[in-house]
Amino acid sequence: MQYKFDKPVQGIIGQEKYQCTVEWRNGKFIADEPVTAGGADSGPDPFTLLLSSLATCTLITMRMYIDRKGWDIPQIGVNANLYQETKDSISKTIIDRDIIFISEMEDGQKVRLQEIAKHCPISKILEGEINVRTFLFRDVETEKQTDYSNDEITVEWKPELCQHSTRCFTQLPEVFNPRIKKWIDANGASTEKITEQVKKCPSGALTIKKK
Ligand code: SF4
Repeated sequence: MQYKFDKPVQGIIGQEKYQCTVEWRNGKFIADEPVTAGGADSGPDPFTLLLSSLATCTLITMRMYIDRKGWDIPQIGVNANLYQETKDSISKTIIDRDIIFISEMEDGQKVRLQEIAKHCPISKILEGEINVRTFLFRDVETEKQTDYSNDEITVEWKPELCQHSTRCFTQLPEVFNPRIKKWIDANGASTEKITEQVKKCPSGALTIKKK
């Protein structure tokens, strides 16, 4: 398994209600809640960001297709909105996406673009199966100061590289236990077994230093 991004999107919130700074690979932007929800509306709210993701992905996908076809379509737009409803205690979210044909176009082109829009990557994510996993992130500085050694080796772990593949703690739980603070017990198995397991770490977050 490989993450889409080397560096994760990181959001930080302080005490200023409810302004979040979101850091992405090439800069930062602000997200907030509207005034009606107690924020200052200083940036898009999380629902708006979700809809923006779909709208922009749809636009980019259609533009790629238009350019590949060599069609002369200078502008195209997308509106996105959502509503939620609960029936028999099951809540459902419906997202509506309207394609706005700003430029003159043939009907056949419109129908084709409607099909292309349905296959944009974010549509596929939203309509596929999604699991949101939540981990406790271990502080990089604390990790540097924590010693995971036995008499022969030191196991080193770089939290910033970990892809949460769960391989280490499902395959060698006697050594790797993310539920406790000092989560690697280098005396929990033989050096050979630990070394073999570390080699299976897909991200390079785990490494071994021989003493
Ligand atoms: S340390 Fe490696 S094996 Fe363990 S969870 Fe992270 S990526 Fe997976």
